[in-house]
Amino acid sequence: MNINLNQNKNLKLFKIISEVAGKNNQTVFIVGGYVRDLLMKRKTPTDIDFVTESNGIDLAKAVAHEINPKLKVSVFKNYGTAMFKHEGLDLEFVGARKESYAEHSRKPSVETGTLEDDQKRRDFTINALAISLNKENFGDLIDPFDGINDIKKKILRTPLEPSQTYSDDPLRMMRAIRFASTLNFKIEENSLKAIQQEAERIRIVSLERIMVEFNKIMLSEKPSLGLKLMEQTGLMQLIIPELTALKGIEEVEGQTHKDNFWHTLEVVDNICQNTGNLWLRWAALLHDIGKAPTKKFVDGTGWTFHGHEFLGSKMVKNIFYRLKLPLGADMKYVQKLVKLSSRPIALVDDGTSDSALRRLLFDAGEDLEDLFILNKADITTKNSSKQAKFKKNFEYVALKIKEVEEKDQVRNFQPPISGEEIMEMFNIQPGREIGILKEKVKEAILEGEIGNDKEEAKSFVIREGELLGLILQ
Ligand code: ATP
Ligand code: MG
Repeated sequence: MNINLNQNKNLKLFKIISEVAGKNNQTVFIVGGYVRDLLMKRKTPTDIDFVTESNGIDLAKAVAHEINPKLKVSVFKNYGTAMFKHEGLDLEFVGARKESYAEHSRKPSVETGTLEDDQKRRDFTINALAISLNKENFGDLIDPFDGINDIKKKILRTPLEPSQTYSDDPLRMMRAIRFASTLNFKIEENSLKAIQQEAERIRIVSLERIMVEFNKIMLSEKPSLGLKLMEQTGLMQLIIPELTALKGIEEVEGQTHKDNFWHTLEVVDNICQNTGNLWLRWAALLHDIGKAPTKKFVDGTGWTFHGHEFLGSKMVKNIFYRLKLPLGADMKYVQKLVKLSSRPIALVDDGTSDSALRRLLFDAGEDLEDLFILNKADITTKNSSKQAKFKKNFEYVALKIKEVEEKDQVRNFQPPISGEEIMEMFNIQPGREIGILKEKVKEAILEGEIGNDKEEAKSFVIREGELLGLILQ
């Protein structure tokens, strides 16, 4: 089969590569993700991989030189690859290779090979497709494992025997699940079995690499596809056991609780319809994480998960640390959302007092909208009248909050009176009284005892200062 590249946006580039390779007596093929996405008419590419049956580094240098002698080529000698950027694309050149693996490592020993050897070492048939850029058969699709048919059937299949493929490089298990989730493909049955069998081998893969794939699952349209596969293959239990701990329904005295694992997956899918923010998606994934360790059956009350949000937000840190995810602002944001996740809904039951609303505004600050997005996603009941009721309650809280914010402006709370002003009022040096008084002002505003206003705050500080034995100057 010939792929007509005449209309291709990169035709000019492909022609240059073809020419240069021809002049150098080298073969050259486009290979991997670019070919797959081209055949699937998917997204615009960010990178293109080329393979040659001789030296990839030489070819990269020659092509770059032809395009612009000043182009900078990055060479990775150990891998026999080189790359450069061209018109916003990462172009990578590699010499075809043949690989064999040792038991303890996912780093193979490598020899030079033919195109077919190179295609064999690739993870899936749909990623092993190549298009020739050689003069004599420019545009020919080289597809020794019938990847094109697997694209049609939406199937992920390994070119070689599956358990060997996954055992050789266990990262491929995560890649299989990632592609299943992002492309909405099925993992072929023998592959799925092999992943179940080899799951434990994921331990030899670095967490950074695992999480690159995991986050691609989280960024897919319907992450539950991938998350379910991780559960089904045992990988979830190995990577985030705190999540599988949420699985199951217990019954005591005829009372059950919902299965919080499956509920969580629904919440994640829901939130993905309203946000592309990876960390907000993570907040959905972890919002109920504290429910397993806090679960209790209380006579007369039923199932409780008392304090699960608080414990959950603490668990976020351990999880991020273990998974080598960033521990800065992103982690704190996830912690904050987990901690606040039940607050808006709890407000409905508390009769939405203004002070509770002000406290929520103060605590959520600039992340209030995101918290609402999470709360909406959290409504997973199948009972449509219940669902309508929850949504209505929730909109009511959102409305009340808006009113309170317009009135009191506590969202990006700035104390109406500063430490310096307090020191001046009582002619005192910096000391613990300042902190105490400032905290009291904040509390009084949130409780609604005084308005968020300088004059009111001043009179309040005078009264409270005197109680502390300070004398107004
Ligand atoms: P993406 O759209 O995410 O870039 P991709 O298929 O291009 O998808 P890359 O990680 O860029 O994925 O890898 C490029 C190609 O290299 C793949 O298409 C596949 O042929 C091969 N490959 C990558 N990682 C592996 C692996 N662990 N085992 C075997 N082949 C791999
Ligand atoms: Mg790629």
